[in-house]
Amino acid sequence: MDHFLYRNGILHAEDVPLPEIISQVGSPVYVYSTATLLRHFLLFDEALSWGPHLVCYAMKAASNQAILKTLAKAGAGMDVVSGGEYARAKAAGVPGDRIVFSGVGKTRAEIRTALEGGIRQFNIESEPEMEVISEVAVTLGVTAPVTIRVNPDVDAKTHAKIATGKSENKFGIPIARAREVYARAAELPGLKVIGIDVHIGSQLTDLEPFRLAYRKVAELTHALRVDGHTIERLDLGGGLGIPYTRSNEAPPLPTDYGQMIREELGDLGCEIEIEPGRLIAGNAGILVSQVIYLKHGEGRDFLILDAAMNDLIRPAMYDAHHDIVPVIEPVPGGEQRTYDIVGPVCESGDTFAKGRTMPQVNPSELVAFRSAGAYGAVMSSEYNTRALVPEVLVNGDQFAVIRRRPSFEEIINRDTLPEWL
Ligand SMILES: *Cc1c(COP(=O)(O)O)cnc(C)c1O
Repeated sequence: MDHFLYRNGILHAEDVPLPEIISQVGSPVYVYSTATLLRHFLLFDEALSWGPHLVCYAMKAASNQAILKTLAKAGAGMDVVSGGEYARAKAAGVPGDRIVFSGVGKTRAEIRTALEGGIRQFNIESEPEMEVISEVAVTLGVTAPVTIRVNPDVDAKTHAKIATGKSENKFGIPIARAREVYARAAELPGLKVIGIDVHIGSQLTDLEPFRLAYRKVAELTHALRVDGHTIERLDLGGGLGIPYTRSNEAPPLPTDYGQMIREELGDLGCEIEIEPGRLIAGNAGILVSQVIYLKHGEGRDFLILDAAMNDLIRPAMYDAHHDIVPVIEPVPGGEQRTYDIVGPVCESGDTFAKGRTMPQVNPSELVAFRSAGAYGAVMSSEYNTRALVPEVLVNGDQFAVIRRRPSFEEIINRDTLPEWL
């Protein structure tokens, strides 16, 4: 469920009609709903309320500080994957002891920054990284709380580019070697091992792969405890999928997910951490765009929008489907058309949908890409020297620009010319 509904024939974000936002901010623009963000966070929080837990929002899904602050004020922690994200989380007011640091390539500088600024834990992804974190911690005279990310070798049954839990993926250490790696971690003076981490992929629409992975984590917890390690926290990653179409596709709900976690891991006496990103932000954001032209091609009609792959890359990168709906509510039984929906960028890959049947729309009318809140604005670029797409946050009947559209001057002046030119 989200808060983007037609009211009086106009698509609204909560209580704000979208044309009102466009008239002030222009198009294209991402629009997020505070109520949806909070609802999704609270569903997870509630689903784990049977025991000690922390929901750490995977902020790479949508990392605007206004979004982070909205969630942090409701009690969320953050999962960060770079020094930049760490700085952003801190700037949004998230305390260090609610930030977990994931990612396969943490640099010394990033590790130092996090240790100095405060960190809940590092999720270690390799043995070389383990040695470096210990070294940096010793230099700073502190100990780093860590979990080690294990790769359980389960098939997440999702798109290949977002599967992370098979042995062929670059993430984590093979679970079969975990006891050996934990033994080494225990010897390192800068580390305090507190638990286990796992994250098997994104947009999972079935609980079974999670269940298989978590069962392996439970077994490993017992084995590591026998080896004398303290395992008090289990970070179970993110990855729960969302419905991208209004049809019958119905991924499991956070409640079912929380219940399954309880079944598999509830008796271990561990604090549970999860890192959902997409499920919190995905359906909490839409991308609004204006139709520029309708072009009749050979055997097909192209709907050319002012949004492009640089604003929303998911269709080009993951073959992703987004429902695209008119902002003015179509009359029931009205004219349907079939379009190839494209952007203005000079790439054939700049295609949002092929042969999409939808209500007829005309040039200058607005359309909205649903479920665009996660991995949308964060993956935008200025390719073709198109301005970085702005973002707006709605809260009830209020809205605010949370990232403004830069002027061409700002974009162009970021280049510097060498003196020989
Ligand atoms: C991307 C990522 C997540 C979030 O995944 P979603 O599918 O957006 O929930 C969580 N943890 C880690 C380590 C990730 O890389």
